Amino acid sequence: MVTCAICEKPFDERAYQVVVVGLGSFDSIACAEAALRAKARERRKLARDPARVSSGTPDGEPSRMDRLN
Ligand SMILES: [Zn+2]
Repeated sequence: MVTCAICEKPFDERAYQVVVVGLGSFDSIACAEAALRAKARERRKLARDPARVSSGTPDGEPSRMDRLN
C-alpha cells in the first residue's frame, strides 16, 4: 500500500492509481490534478521572481529560441 500525497489516503498501487511523471502516483485523478495545480503555481512563483533562483538555471531565463521562431 502507498499513501496519496494529496489526500493522504492509503491505496493499493497494484489495483488503481493515477501516475503523473515527475510528481508520483495518486489515488484519483482529482488528486493528480491538485498536485499538477500546486506544481504549476510553484513554477509560476519562481518564474515571476527569477532573481531569487540561483544563477545558472535555464528555467528562469527567457529563451532565445522564442525570438527566433
Ligand atoms: Zn488522493
